[in-house]
Amino acid sequence: MHLLWFRRDLRLTDNEIVTIATADGAEVLPFFIIDPWFYTWADVGKKRVRFLFESLENLNFNLQKLGSRLYLFEGNSTDIVPELTKQLTDLRYKPKLFFNRDVQVKYGISRDKTIVDFYKRLNLDYHIGLNNFLQSQDKRDEWFSEYYNYQRQPQHPTPQTINTPQVTLNLPQLTFKELKHKYHSFWAGEKIYFSGGETEAQAKLDSFLQKRYYGYHWKLSRPMLSQLGATSHLSPHLTFGTISTRTVYQSTKIRAEKLKTQPKAEFSLKAFRDRLRWHDSFTQRLYFYPEIAYTNRYPEFDSLYTPSELSPAKQELFQAWLEGMTGFPLVDASMRQLQTMGWMNFRMRAMCATFLTINCGISWHHGARHYMNYLVDGDLAINNWQWQMQAGATNPLSDTFRIYNPSKN
Ligand SMILES: Cc1cc2nc3c(=O)[nH]c(=O)nc-3n(C[C@H](O)[C@H](O)[C@H](O)COP(=O)(O)OP(=O)(O)OC[C@H]3O[C@@H](n4cnc5c(N)ncnc54)[C@H](O)[C@@H]3O)c2cc1C
Repeated sequence: MHLLWFRRDLRLTDNEIVTIATADGAEVLPFFIIDPWFYTWADVGKKRVRFLFESLENLNFNLQKLGSRLYLFEGNSTDIVPELTKQLTDLRYKPKLFFNRDVQVKYGISRDKTIVDFYKRLNLDYHIGLNNFLQSQDKRDEWFSEYYNYQRQPQHPTPQTINTPQVTLNLPQLTFKELKHKYHSFWAGEKIYFSGGETEAQAKLDSFLQKRYYGYHWKLSRPMLSQLGATSHLSPHLTFGTISTRTVYQSTKIRAEKLKTQPKAEFSLKAFRDRLRWHDSFTQRLYFYPEIAYTNRYPEFDSLYTPSELSPAKQELFQAWLEGMTGFPLVDASMRQLQTMGWMNFRMRAMCATFLTINCGISWHHGARHYMNYLVDGDLAINNWQWQMQAGATNPLSDTFRIYNPSKN
């Protein structure tokens, strides 16, 4: 019995563990664990949780088309996976566990280690795959070429059918109806700007490559144009893995080939592909240096940028910033956009970050946490490093230092 554990790779297309676990008609049990770690933070972004739940619903729908379904367990992953394994062993199965490596947060890293140790103790097999390109050893000089080698390789094929047997398990499980009912606060009827799921991800990519990409390289800095769709809006999908960067990369290359007589169009798509690479390079950095999510790149900044509690005067500034009440219209509009949509374009994210860190003198730690709570695409690897970059803490010897002027912008 192959246990197919989905986490931030909620897709069937170009997914290493899906392809390998389902090969040769093996019996497969696909599952996701609704782990309280994710949704019980006091200030977790509701839009992000909703996006996750919608993605799960769509994954279940797509699995059903292949004759399978998604088991939804509820509880701590480090309790559920061992218990599931034990129950299957009692039923005389020999489970093998498949999951893709996740590098986001300390919780996930220690969770995976606990589970791998458990499998080793029981002498059971496991397979850890790759969600997107990730180098296993720090070979910085080769990163670029290895990245492109990976992106150009054929995608992992999607199975035609998945053989999922009926097994009776004594574990806390939810149906999708129960999920909606129990967590209704996340589904509550606000306007939705980003819908989850692999089907939606593919549609977003198609519509971007069809027409929306045109002028991408200059429109991406305009908040209104990018909100209306001049950028891809794929970021939450890449965060939850409803599409792989390789699928996006290869589709973009095919489109660029067709447009090769139009240099401007090709230029736009090249600028887009560069950003896809940035996505993976941020993940890579966090994988090798997990401490950079929370500590300053250079200790010289430790007295300036600290996560410690803010003084009452700074707290007042911080509050005005996060509520969009600073009196600087573009900052305020952007911060309200973040709360309403769970998204901002790159330039406004950067501008609000320099405004908080440099103009208000408030550490990047506070701003990064607020973004992580509200962004639908909240990705620790990109967000926290971007915050350090915008705060000027990653490259202090550079000749230039960028502060986005909220009036001139
Ligand atoms: C302070 C700050 C915090 C940020 N936090 C996040 C975050 O939590 N999650 C996140 O996905 N992006 C983050 N970004 C990067 C960027 O703003 C978003 O990726 C982008 O706005 C998402 O919109 P899109 O999908 O339409 O992007 P597109 O312009 O269509 O880009 C395509 C993809 O490339 C990647 N990408 C684009 N720009 C960047 C970038 N500058 N760095 C790394 N990858 C990039 C994203 O995966 C994006 O989906 C942050 C930027 C700043 C300045």
